[in-house]
Amino acid sequence: MKNIFVCCILALAFLGVPVPPQETKLPIIMYHLVTENQKYIGAFGISPAQLRQDFEYLQSNGYNTVVVSDLIAFVNEGVPLPPNPIMLTFDDGNYSEYKYLLPLLKEFDKKAVISIMGEATDRATAEAEKNPKSLHPNLNWAQVAELHNSGHAEIQSHAFDLHRPPLGSAKKKTESAETYKNRLKDDLQKLQTQCAHHLDGYMPTAFTYPFGAISADSREVLEALGMVASFSCEEGINTISDSLFKLKRINRTSKRSLESIMSYSLTTSMLYI
Ligand SMILES: [Zn+2]
Repeated sequence: MKNIFVCCILALAFLGVPVPPQETKLPIIMYHLVTENQKYIGAFGISPAQLRQDFEYLQSNGYNTVVVSDLIAFVNEGVPLPPNPIMLTFDDGNYSEYKYLLPLLKEFDKKAVISIMGEATDRATAEAEKNPKSLHPNLNWAQVAELHNSGHAEIQSHAFDLHRPPLGSAKKKTESAETYKNRLKDDLQKLQTQCAHHLDGYMPTAFTYPFGAISADSREVLEALGMVASFSCEEGINTISDSLFKLKRINRTSKRSLESIMSYSLTTSMLYI
């Protein structure tokens, strides 16, 4: 049976008919802050030493990091993903991605997805202009551009100014679908425009939902802005075949090493919580 399938695929390829990509398992790890401050190390913060351990684990176990553009090429053009693919995502555009992550990405020759918030990036930029020595917790545009230009980081959208609990970019009960879609589009468009301005015309292709709060009406807005993927906070391993929306992720808490997360997630049918 398997041979017949392979023959059919080869025949389709020979005839020039687009071949649907085969399903591929993809773990996506969700990181937030990397800090030396013990106060913030916990569910959403890990130490620089723990981040280094993750890279050492990836390296010694033959994992290959991919970013959204790799998934798009896989789904749209059938460009195969590398063996043992894994995606590292960093939310909120923290300065720690410049300080700790970028050097490790270069040292280990890996790639990561960084989802930034436009309003916070603007504030960090204004503060850096006023006082170049100030240490803002968020990335400024010069740092975002350096990450982008490094070839090791892919910048994605975490909304311009919708990162406010508890709803984030989700629809309010009191607003109509139309009002919601316009509000979301206006906000996300701002960050798309900013990125194009600061990153040589580049615009995010994926949206990372703040707090993982998702409204069904949002997908239409993302697609209208040219986005083709989105990240949720639902835990699990993805099977990539066609849709790249609502990709699941696994939170990298400081309490479990990446090695422990991976061995648990890949060897059990249960989700890692
Ligand atoms: Zn966030």
